[in-house]
Amino acid sequence: MLPDREGAARQYAVCERFDDLGKDDPDRTYRLGIMGGTFDPVHIGHLACAEQARDELGMDAIIFIPAGVPVYKKDQKVTPAADRLEMCRLAVASNPAFDVSSIEVDREGDTYTVDTLRQLRAHYPDNVELFFITGADAVMSIMKWRDSAQIAHLAKLVAVTRPGYAPPEEMKRVLRERTGFQVSFLEVTGLDVSSSDLRRRVADGRSIRYLTKEVVFRYIEEHGLYRNDEEGERAWS
Ligand code: ATP
Ligand code: MG
Repeated sequence: MLPDREGAARQYAVCERFDDLGKDDPDRTYRLGIMGGTFDPVHIGHLACAEQARDELGMDAIIFIPAGVPVYKKDQKVTPAADRLEMCRLAVASNPAFDVSSIEVDREGDTYTVDTLRQLRAHYPDNVELFFITGADAVMSIMKWRDSAQIAHLAKLVAVTRPGYAPPEEMKRVLRERTGFQVSFLEVTGLDVSSSDLRRRVADGRSIRYLTKEVVFRYIEEHGLYRNDEEGERAWS
């Protein structure tokens, strides 16, 4: 388990704010949204997407869960998990419905969504419904994910699409009928921002201000992340 910033062992199982979700009223159904990703770094696209999912689908809480070793990004240089986690913590701090969990980072080995969902399912009571939020692009590859049938059993899916990009009816039908997934398609404000673009901008010495929260922007500056110079090299060691 990673120590928190003060080096003290944490007292919670999933995350600081929502470990007890579902316990207040056992007769009520609670909706928990899960935002998975590398978050290298977290940006306004992630935050707006999570907030609109919360608002439009009536989520009680959204947990950002940075991946430990993303299976599909193994050939890329990924910023140390402690930095990605801390940037997420800083980014969500001002939203009482958001939190960050280090469960994927704490787990040894490769990150698989199915393991995360199993862990969350085992932690939360049955009156907490799990919703896995993901970009519509990723949704189509979901059938190839490890244990996708299990994923379908553990969580509902929220497929986030951009305005003007309506997934073809055929795609929706295939997903619903052939995979057993319960999918909601949610159109969010299109913000053409990506972590790759932010990383490139910093490396090129261009501004990323307003593309992520000010606190995250400052963290990146202070820790010399993504820079294409000696300072940037030090951020890896
Ligand atoms: P990278 O460029 O490194 O791939 P990214 O910006 O795509 O990073 P990820 O951490 O890969 O960010 O994405 C996490 C989740 O957020 C995914 O489900 C992805 O589809 C979604 N997402 C990423 N960018 C946006 C955006 N601009 N608007 C809405 N959702 C987004
Ligand atoms: Mg991506």
